Amino acid sequence: MLTEDNKYTQYLGDRKFRPESLMMSYGYKPELSQGAIKSPIFQTSTFVFEKAEDGKAFFELAYGLREKGEKEEMGLIYSRLNNPDLEILENRLCLWDDAEEAAVFASGMAATSTTLLALLNPGDVILHSEPIYGGSDYYIKNILKKFGITAVGFKANATAEEVDKIIQEKNIGGKLAMIFIETPANPTNHLVDIQACADLAKKYSTVDKKVLLTVDNTFLGPVFQHPLKHGADLIIYSATKFIGGHSDLIAGACLGSAALMKQVKGMRTFSGSMASPWDGWMMMRSLETLKIRMERMAKNAAVVADWLVKHPKVEKIHYLGMLEDNAQQKAIFEKQCLAAGSMIAFDIKGGEAEAFKFLNNLKLIKLAVSLGGTESLAEHPASMTHSDITPADRAEMGIGENMVRLSIGVEHPEDLIADMEQAFAAV
Ligand SMILES: *Cc1c(COP(=O)(O)O)cnc(C)c1O
Repeated sequence: MLTEDNKYTQYLGDRKFRPESLMMSYGYKPELSQGAIKSPIFQTSTFVFEKAEDGKAFFELAYGLREKGEKEEMGLIYSRLNNPDLEILENRLCLWDDAEEAAVFASGMAATSTTLLALLNPGDVILHSEPIYGGSDYYIKNILKKFGITAVGFKANATAEEVDKIIQEKNIGGKLAMIFIETPANPTNHLVDIQACADLAKKYSTVDKKVLLTVDNTFLGPVFQHPLKHGADLIIYSATKFIGGHSDLIAGACLGSAALMKQVKGMRTFSGSMASPWDGWMMMRSLETLKIRMERMAKNAAVVADWLVKHPKVEKIHYLGMLEDNAQQKAIFEKQCLAAGSMIAFDIKGGEAEAFKFLNNLKLIKLAVSLGGTESLAEHPASMTHSDITPADRAEMGIGENMVRLSIGVEHPEDLIADMEQAFAAV
C-alpha cells in the first residue's frame, strides 16, 4: 500500500527527480513484500481485513460516505476497486503528465467509454476533432447517441476560429459539455491546438457547468506531449501502444484532477472496466524503459523519414518532423510537442495496388495494425484502420488509397530502410 511519505520520494531535498529516474521504484515499499525489489503480482480477487472496523472504514472511504482523515490510508478491499499493482502503476503514470490522479483500464476503449459515461449526461453535446481513432469515433457517434448525447465534429487541422464558428452556427454553446480531441490525428498526423481548445472550453463554461477538454494523448504521450500543461482537463491513453510498448497487452488509462478522477474511478468500479493485476504488472515493467524506447523510436523515425521523402516512389510524407511548408501546423508543434514521435504516413505514387504491393513485400516490418511497440509495423489506413469512414470523408481528411502508415520501432534504421527499399523495388 502507498503511504503519503513514499508518494513523495520524488524529492531529494529541493531536487525533483525526473519520471524516468523513478519508474523502477516509485510508490512501492519493499518491506511490505518480503524485501522483493520488484512489486509482486498481486493476483488476488479480495483482501483480508485485520478487523471488522477496518473493513467498515475502508468501505466508508471507497463509497465516499465520509472524507478521508489527514493521516488515513485507503485500505485494500477487492480488486475491482483497488489492487497494489494498479495503484503503484497509476502513481507512476501520474509523474509523466504531472497529474493528480490516474486510473488504468482493460483497454484504451474502456478508458474512453468509462470516462465519457462518467462525465456526460443526456442532452449534452460533445465536440470532437476528426479523424479520431475508429473505436472512439463509433462510441461517440453511435453509443453516446443512445443516451441522448449529441456528437459534433470538426476537422483536426481547422483553426480555433473555424471551430468556434461551428459552435455558433450549430448553436450548441449552451449544451456543450466536452471537447474531445486526438492530437496528432491518426493517420494524417494533423495537430490540434490544445491550448486553443482549452480557451474555447473556457469561453463556453458557465458557473454551473465547466466545459471539459479531454485529449487522447496516445500518439505522443506521455513522454513527448503533456496536455494538462496546455489547459486540458483529462488525458486518455491506449496503453496498448507506447506505454505497454511490446505489442503483448491491451490496456488504457485516464488522468486528471482528483475531483474529476473520483467520478471516473467511481464509474470504473461500477462498469468493472479496470485492468487486471497481471497487465498492471506488465505495464510497470514497460514503464521502466518507456523513455528510452520512445526516444530511440523517434530517432529511427527521423532517419527513415529523411530517406522516404527523397524516394522516387513516394509522392508525399506526413511526418511531424517535416512541417516546414505549413506554418499553422508548425506553430502548434512548437507550442505543444517535445518531439516528432515515431508515426509516419506516406502516399506512394499510384493507388491501392501499389500500396498493397509495397506492404506485401515487406519482410522485417510486419503488416499489422496497432502502433507504438518495439517492432516496426505497416498498414493501409483506407482499407484497414479507417475503412469504416466513407470514401468522401476519407478524401476530405486526406486519407488516400495510396497512403501507408508506419509505426517505427527500435530496430536498426538502416535495416528498416533496406527492407523498404526492396519492397519499393517490387512495386
Ligand atoms: C488504439 C487506440 C485507441 C484504442 O485503444 P485500445 O487499447 O485498442 O482499446 C484509442 N485511441 C488511439 C489514438 C489509439 O491508437
